[in-house]
Amino acid sequence: MGRFKSSSLGYLDTPIEFLKGVGPQKGELLNKELNIFSFGDLLWSFPFRYIDKTQIHPISSLNPEEGYFQIKGILSSLQVLGSPRKKRMVGRLKDDSGSVELIWFKGVHFLQRTLQPGQTYIAYGKPSEFRGKVNIAHPEMELFIPGKGKERSALAPVYSSTEKLNTRGLDAKARRRLIETLLANLPTHVITENLPDYLLERTKLIGRFKALTKIHFPKSDKELTEARNRLKFEELFFLQLRLLEQKVDRQKQIKGLKFDTVGTFFNQFYHKKLQFELTDAQKRVIKEIRTDLGYGIQMNRLLQGDVGSGKTVVALMCMLISLDNGYQAVMMAPTEILATQHYNSLREMVAGLGLKIAFLSGNVKGKKRKELLKFLEQGDIDILVGTHAIIEDPVVFKNLGLAITDEQHRFGVKQRAKLWAKGKDIPPHILVMTATPIPRTLAMTLYGDLDISVIDELPPGRKEIITKHWYESSRLKLFGFLKKEIAKGRQVYVVYPLIEESEKLDLANLYQGYEAMQRDFPPDQYQMSIVHGRMKAADKEFEMQRFLKGETQIMVATTVIEVGVNVPNATVMVIENAERFGLSQLHQLRGRVGRGGDQSYCLLMTGFKLSEDSKVRLATMVRTNNGFEISEVDLKLRGQGSFEGTQQSGVPELHISDLR
Ligand code: ADP
Ligand code: MG
Repeated sequence: MGRFKSSSLGYLDTPIEFLKGVGPQKGELLNKELNIFSFGDLLWSFPFRYIDKTQIHPISSLNPEEGYFQIKGILSSLQVLGSPRKKRMVGRLKDDSGSVELIWFKGVHFLQRTLQPGQTYIAYGKPSEFRGKVNIAHPEMELFIPGKGKERSALAPVYSSTEKLNTRGLDAKARRRLIETLLANLPTHVITENLPDYLLERTKLIGRFKALTKIHFPKSDKELTEARNRLKFEELFFLQLRLLEQKVDRQKQIKGLKFDTVGTFFNQFYHKKLQFELTDAQKRVIKEIRTDLGYGIQMNRLLQGDVGSGKTVVALMCMLISLDNGYQAVMMAPTEILATQHYNSLREMVAGLGLKIAFLSGNVKGKKRKELLKFLEQGDIDILVGTHAIIEDPVVFKNLGLAITDEQHRFGVKQRAKLWAKGKDIPPHILVMTATPIPRTLAMTLYGDLDISVIDELPPGRKEIITKHWYESSRLKLFGFLKKEIAKGRQVYVVYPLIEESEKLDLANLYQGYEAMQRDFPPDQYQMSIVHGRMKAADKEFEMQRFLKGETQIMVATTVIEVGVNVPNATVMVIENAERFGLSQLHQLRGRVGRGGDQSYCLLMTGFKLSEDSKVRLATMVRTNNGFEISEVDLKLRGQGSFEGTQQSGVPELHISDLR
C-alpha cells in the first residue's frame, strides 16, 4: 500500500533475518509462516488485537461469554497429567476473590521449565466452561515483578501467530520484542510523511511515523483509534488515487467508436415495440450510456441492478444504438440456458424491426456454426447472443461496436479483455451487467476501472415477494401450499443446493427430494421437471422450455437455474437446505419469482440445527427484499476477501482497512 511510496525504501527492504534477535533460522520461519521477508513487512504486520494491560479483573468475575480477561494471582499449583504421549499441564491461579484452573495441552515441556509455582503471575486468556467449571486454556503468562508497572499502563499488541512460531521461540512475547527492536532502531527519515500538510490539517489525522509507532504500542484507546484512522485513511486514499489514475489513463489512451446518432432501430423500438413505460431509473441509465457512447472514448461501464429491475431492455436499447451507428453488437451470458433465454426474448422484442439476431454456444456445431461465423464476418448478423464460446479465437466480427456481458461476476477480468480484442481497429464499447449489488466502496475496488450505472428501482406494480423460513416439520404445510398455488394455475421452483465437493451426495439428495415429491404430487395430476448441472445441455434446455411453456408445474432443480431465467408465471420458490446457500445466492434464487403480477413467495426450508451465521442469513432474507441491504449483510458476514468475485478481480489486499 502506501508504504511503497516511501522514498527510502532501502532500509525497510532489509531482509528480516538481519534484525537483532532474528537470524537465519527464525528469519526463515517468519518468511514461511507469516510472509514476513523484510523490516517493512514486519512493521506493516499490525496487531490484530490488544491486551488491555490497564485492567486486572478479579478471578471471581471471569465470564466465558465475555471474551478475553487479564487476571493476577499466585500460581498455587502446577502439575503434569496424562500419559507421556498426551501430556497436559494443569495449574491453578489464586487471588483474593477465588481461583481458576489454567490448562495447557501444548508446549508442556517448555512451560515446565519456565513457570514457577508460588510466584505471582499475570495471566491473560479466554475463559471457557468445562463440566460446569471455568478454566482458561493456553493463557499467556507473565511473571509479575513489582515496580515494573510501566507496560501495564498500556495496550499490549497481539500479533497473528502460528503453532510453529509459538514452539520455536517466536511466541507472542518474542514477536512483541521484535517490533520493539525494530521501532527503537528505526531511523526517523525512513518513514516519510506521504500525505500533504493541508490534508493532515483538514482531516486532523496524526503523522505517519507516529501512527506506525502507535499502532503497535498504543498507550490508550484514544491513541489506538488515532493510529488506526490515520493508517486506514492513508490506505484508502492511495487506493482511490490509483483507481482514479487508472481511469484517467484509460480515458486518455483508448480511442473509442463515436456513436452520435440515435436512429431508426432505436426510435422504432422505443415508439412502436416497447410494451411498457421505462422506469425513471432505466431512462436515466440509458441516457448515461448514450452520452458515454458519444464521446469517442471507449466506454467501460458496469450496470448494476437488482434482479428483475429490467436490465435486459436497457441492454437491448444500447445495442440498437450500436446498430444505428452501423456497428454490430454482442451479448454474452454465463450459461447456455440464460443465453438461450436472452436470445429468445431479444428476438421477440425486436420482431419486425428487420434486424438479424443469431445464437452461438459450444453446442452450435458443424455446418451451422461455419455458416454463422461467415455471416458474422460479412456483417449479415447484427446482434450475436451466446455463451463464452463467443470470445473464442475463430469468432470474427465485421465491425463490433458494443459488447455486453450479463451477470459479470461469473466472468473473469481476462475474459473481459478478450472481448476488447474483438473490435476491428478500435475496441468495442463494453457494458457489464450484474444483479449482485455490491456496496459502493467495494464496487470501487472491484471495478475501479469501470464507470458505474445503477438501476435502483423496480418496474411498477410488482408485489413484494413474501419470504418465510420454515422448518422441516412444516413439510406437509408446504406441500399443501404448493398444491393451492398450482391449483390457481401458478408454477413452482424447488431448488436444492449443489456444492461441488459433494456433488454426488447432492445429486442423490436432489433425486430423493424429487421422488419424495412425486409421492405427494402424483404424475397423473402434476407434471414435474428436473434440471441439474450433470445433464446434457440439450436435455436441460428441453426441460427448461417445458417449464417455460407451462407444460410442467414444478421445476425441481439445482442452482443451475440461479441466474437470470424468466418465467413470470412462477410464483413460488422453495429453497431446500436453505442454510447451505450464501446470501447473494438466496437473493438471486428468490429473484426467479415475483416477475409477473401475482403475489409470489419464497420459502426457505431448513432443519432445526442452524449456525449463527445461517440464522442471520435466513432472518435477513425474511426481513428484506432489497439487494443492496442484503449484500451489506453478506459483506459483514463474509468479509471482503471472500466476497464473490474478489479473488479473480485482483483487489489489492488491504492491511488495515475493512470495506465492511
Ligand atoms: P433483470 O434486471 O433481472 O435482468 P429483466 O430484464 O429480466 O430483469 O426484466 C424482468 C422483467 O421485467 C421482464 O419480464 C421485463 O420484460 C420486465 N420489465 C422490464 N422493464 C420494465 C418496465 N419498465 N415496466 C414493466 N416491466 C418491465
Ligand atoms: Mg437478467
